Amino acid sequence: MNSVQSHPSAALLGVANQPPLTWELPQPKRPIALKVATLLDGKGGTLRDTVVVVSGDKIERIGGPVPQGAQVYDLDGMTVAPGLIDTHVHVTYHFSHDRFIDNRLVGQDEPVPDSVLFGVENGVRILEAGFTTVQSLGPGTAWDLPLREAWARNLVPGPRLLTSLQWFRYDQPGQTVQPEPELRAMVRDLKARGADAIKIFASTSVREGSRPTLTQAQLDVICGECNSQGLRSVVHAYTSAVKMAVQAGCTAIEHGTGGMTDEALALMAAKGTFFDPTVGVVTENYVANKDKYLGVGNYTAEAFAMMEKLIANPKPPEEFMRSLKVPGLKIVYGSDATAGAHGHNAEGLLYRIKFGGQHAMQALVSATSLAAESLNLGSEIGTIAPGMTADIVAMRGDYLADATALRRMAFVMKGGRVFKYQP
Ligand SMILES: [Zn+2]
Repeated sequence: MNSVQSHPSAALLGVANQPPLTWELPQPKRPIALKVATLLDGKGGTLRDTVVVVSGDKIERIGGPVPQGAQVYDLDGMTVAPGLIDTHVHVTYHFSHDRFIDNRLVGQDEPVPDSVLFGVENGVRILEAGFTTVQSLGPGTAWDLPLREAWARNLVPGPRLLTSLQWFRYDQPGQTVQPEPELRAMVRDLKARGADAIKIFASTSVREGSRPTLTQAQLDVICGECNSQGLRSVVHAYTSAVKMAVQAGCTAIEHGTGGMTDEALALMAAKGTFFDPTVGVVTENYVANKDKYLGVGNYTAEAFAMMEKLIANPKPPEEFMRSLKVPGLKIVYGSDATAGAHGHNAEGLLYRIKFGGQHAMQALVSATSLAAESLNLGSEIGTIAPGMTADIVAMRGDYLADATALRRMAFVMKGGRVFKYQP
């Protein structure tokens, strides 16, 4: 009888019968070898029948023999790809008691531990779905920082997190934009507090008319300060605000609705501005969970009527279709996942492929190497190659022939640790 079984409280709790955790702590000491039939490298390349050797948190080599004593995972019958990246989520948004909890109100109507634990749950869902990196673009709460830390330490399963912490937002009545020195100080303050990027609302939401909320001069100041601080600026922009943000030198345009003119698209391609169209998840999720959102904040009956009309015919906006044809335009993948959509992050890729005619390989690149580049992490993640961080996933089936393989994530490795293996 071993000591665990002999302890009465352990027997009571069934500790002796605990199944092993699905991920491995600490970092495995021996190398891991992945036996791969089909590998998409994240940059458009395909490899067949090879071995990927992972040592520590890095990809050591591709090809060659299985190392002596390696732990082997057989990924036959699966499509292997870099860990997926979602450049636009709201990682702490959730439902509680079948209602959407607006994080901007958290502290007033939900205890902090509840909020944090819902964030932890979201992280598990996101990672299990094969997304090993996500960027959270601001709910205005402080929980992103401890979640980023806990997931980085692998205390709990969750994605690598980048966060804007807060946002620059001036869409409510009576709000005024601060003068230039204060705007610059706000950028520097967020950087000091640990923000990975700055999120800017240059327009109101679609539910509030999509009108610009910042002048060209104000955008120039905010994005200009970000650039001089080495911070990325990610801009929620519709209509005329798109071109303004591109001219201001901001890093990425989110949504873009009503503003993706041929001129704006050409300018973005020329300046290397990233475009994240956020099609196929966010609106569909609102409508699918209408009963939980209706009546909270600006989720009014009129807003739902508009959104229901928008998705009645599943067809990506004409602007997205046109953007696919712009040479050199960097279209990245972001879902804008909020409550109800965490774990379904890949649905926007399926939507782009099925309804938008985007080539499956191009869609995958947008959610791997190109997304990594947009996060300034292109030399670390988003590609399966020697020396890269070992973020590797495998989905059952042939993704290029049937992209619904994205819904059958069978293997998830983040930083060399295996979090899921369900062959
Ligand atoms: Zn968003």
